[in-house]
Amino acid sequence: MDSIHIILYFISSILFILGIKMLSSPLIARRGNIISFLGMIIAIITTLSYVEYEISSIIYIFSGITTGGILGLIFAKKVQMTSMPQMVAIFNGLGGLASSLIAFSEIIKVNNTISFNLISVSILMSILIGSVTFSGSITGFLKLQSLITGKPILIPLRNYFNLLILLSAIGLMIVSVLYSGNTLIFYTLLGVCLLLGILIVLPIGGADMPVVIALLNSYSGIVAAFTGFIFSNVALIISGSLIGASGLILTRIMTKAMNRSLVNVVLGGFGATATNIDSEASDKNYKSGSSDDIASLLEYSENIIIIPGYGLAVAQAQHSLKELLDVLENQQKNVLFAIHPVAGRMPGHMNVLLAEANIDYELLLDLDQVNEKFSQTDVSIVIGANDVVNPAAKLDKNSPIYGMPILEIEKSKSIVVLKRSMNPGFAGLDNNIFYNEKTLMLFGDAKDSIDSLNKSFKELN
Ligand code: NDP
Repeated sequence: MDSIHIILYFISSILFILGIKMLSSPLIARRGNIISFLGMIIAIITTLSYVEYEISSIIYIFSGITTGGILGLIFAKKVQMTSMPQMVAIFNGLGGLASSLIAFSEIIKVNNTISFNLISVSILMSILIGSVTFSGSITGFLKLQSLITGKPILIPLRNYFNLLILLSAIGLMIVSVLYSGNTLIFYTLLGVCLLLGILIVLPIGGADMPVVIALLNSYSGIVAAFTGFIFSNVALIISGSLIGASGLILTRIMTKAMNRSLVNVVLGGFGATATNIDSEASDKNYKSGSSDDIASLLEYSENIIIIPGYGLAVAQAQHSLKELLDVLENQQKNVLFAIHPVAGRMPGHMNVLLAEANIDYELLLDLDQVNEKFSQTDVSIVIGANDVVNPAAKLDKNSPIYGMPILEIEKSKSIVVLKRSMNPGFAGLDNNIFYNEKTLMLFGDAKDSIDSLNKSFKELN
């Protein structure tokens, strides 16, 4: 590769790294996206201009880029925030499939003959990881989209069976080198790897699926890096490694925030035995109020913390919430937002939602910052959140979420909860905070409830 191409790949890699770095703050995340986009344009032009790649049909390539670009734009514009994990699953799956297909085309090019060298190992690893990523991501998509059951599908002895399939895949990879030239071995390897991806994801419940999607995202990066080795493409190796590493870090952040180990998530079964509301729940007492009651409570409160959760996203109530914030701030109230790392259904879900409504990023506090503030808080307003404020995570050793760090709203003087019913959240667990004597429930869709709260509050002032 000549020095001009190496320099251009180097520039595009720097832009990828800068872009990812900028995604860490909502204030500069959009700019980060544009910078990564520029890096990708440079990488594509550099690749197309590299004569040794012997690009035969530029028309095919541009039709692919245009069709993919238009489809990506349409989906990105249309997708609901709550469906983002599904969209990422599809992207990961397609990335894995692309790498697998590239590896296959290389095998066809060399008439199925491979030997024991870096390129052959990269080809075989691309088929293995690429097809596991593809079939695993599609299975994850089907579960998240409720096209198949979201509950864990538990096949007896599944972990031993999966290990056996993985060992068979590795065996086939070795055989493909020893008996080079045999097409059937590659098709069998492909089939075995696709089956493995499906069987790994089937036992994982819907609640853990976003974690698995982050892990598959990491796989799609690793496989891209292997594909980069096939063509000695530096940009692909670097960008693939970046995705691989960032996917793993994200997976670690999510499992830590749920107090689970990655092995525990991947072995599956979480939620299969979790009960819905326990039988005693229906006997417990809770207090419910009207928007007027809550407006009066807020009128006499000075320090308020709002805890957004998944229900806020479902109701798309972020703009009404901004209105409530403005109304409260006009009355000189101190309002903060408590953001749990796994509130909603994907990392950063609440940050994105609140940023959409132009809520000042400075008002958002994370778990460590906010927990010490609850004891000086007059009212905690929980909007469509449940598991992230469930005290069972601290108190009930038998709870499936025991050990998960939570927002300690029970320390505040009063608690208001906006949700539609007494139904449980994602983990399927009853939440004792709703029966606390300090808690007042406001039932209804979060947007409707906030709108009526805004109206009641304005009428008071
Ligand atoms: P939960 O899923 O625990 O609770 C959401 C609550 O919102 C429900 O109890 C529901 O009650 C209520 N709700 C739903 N729709 C509406 C609506 N339209 N209006 C008002 N309320 C509504 O959400 P949390 O955010 O508290 O917790 C997230 C959960 O997701 C955790 O268990 C976490 O581990 C899990 N998770 C999160 C990931 C992430 O990256 N963020 C990844 C993987 C899992 P009702 O039906 O009564 O209205």
